Amino acid sequence: MNKKSIAINEERLKNTFIELVGVPCPSLDEKEEAALLMQKLQEMGMETQMDSAGEKCGGTTGNVWGFLKGNVPGAVRLFFEAHMDSVAPTTGTRVIERDGVLYSDGTTTLGGDDKSGIAAVLEALQCVIENDLPHGDVQVCFTIAEETGSYGVRYMDKTKIRADAGYCMDCGGHPGAIYNASPKAINVKLTVRGKSAHAGLEPEKGINAIMLAAKALNVLPAYGRLDEETTLSVDMINGGLASNIVPEACEIVIDMRCPDEDKLEKLKNETVALFRNTVEAGGGSLEVELKDVAPGVNLNAGHATVKLAASAAEKLGFPVSTGFTGGCSDANFLCGMGLPSVLLATGMDKIHTTEERLALADLNNTARWVLGIIAEATEN
Ligand SMILES: [Zn+2]
Repeated sequence: MNKKSIAINEERLKNTFIELVGVPCPSLDEKEEAALLMQKLQEMGMETQMDSAGEKCGGTTGNVWGFLKGNVPGAVRLFFEAHMDSVAPTTGTRVIERDGVLYSDGTTTLGGDDKSGIAAVLEALQCVIENDLPHGDVQVCFTIAEETGSYGVRYMDKTKIRADAGYCMDCGGHPGAIYNASPKAINVKLTVRGKSAHAGLEPEKGINAIMLAAKALNVLPAYGRLDEETTLSVDMINGGLASNIVPEACEIVIDMRCPDEDKLEKLKNETVALFRNTVEAGGGSLEVELKDVAPGVNLNAGHATVKLAASAAEKLGFPVSTGFTGGCSDANFLCGMGLPSVLLATGMDKIHTTEERLALADLNNTARWVLGIIAEATEN
């Protein structure tokens, strides 16, 4: 097959975006959007499926899957992912265009997070199909409830994944920006146990768990940003039953993040040991409960998944960057499932506010980038 220079249809892309954000899709209620996306994928001739993620997390629909069988043997099998839900206020979005930038009317979010990703992927696929371009297998998954805790991807049926490289289209910045590292995140819940006693009659018989917890917090050497890739934040504290009881228990939740799992493990162990020493020296005891929040993304710049996206962006003349983001996205969970995945910028801007905006140039370039990645995947 000859390589043709194919232009995306900018008008169609804009209209698709406006259509998608016009459909209400708060987290866990993406039913209408999912139906529309199933229909769009089917009209393109793609194989579609809906999984049961919604049933597992109380949503009105599952994740939407689409599959386009490749016509180039041996091509890298691609996986594009974007989430359907938008943060509130999201229902009744009316799009206003001003100087090449899309906004809402100011009463809702725009929904560029993450319909910019979905619309760009749909446009690229449409181009591939209508121009009969060479392509490998392309799988897409539009997920539910990302904004409230990545439930769609957490409950995704990972046996459905048939891909080598994952691209999560869900990040601010101009197309060409690749986030190939993101921390593994854990929550460490520390319950300090003391001894209750009447606060007025015999406080000396008690061991004040709140004061012990305060002492232990005070010996932490640092908090907040510990280095360029590591954070530790004391985010919740809860203790005491009544104002006349020396508190028997005090719970503290510490969020810790680092892409380097060994380093994170060491930080967790050191923090717990410091806490335990202080608490036990004060006559109390410590219970520790660990919760994995998200796996990490830790692909180096030379990883095939990163190089493929970088090379496609370079050919389009986009400024290419790779880097670290402290936030966790669906890409973290895809990596955790064994699919090497990175986060790609779509131009979404001022997200999670009613001032959210999206430059049409960025939307168009995101679609060009997806198209470029599909082309690049055949070049091996
Ligand atoms: Zn998002």
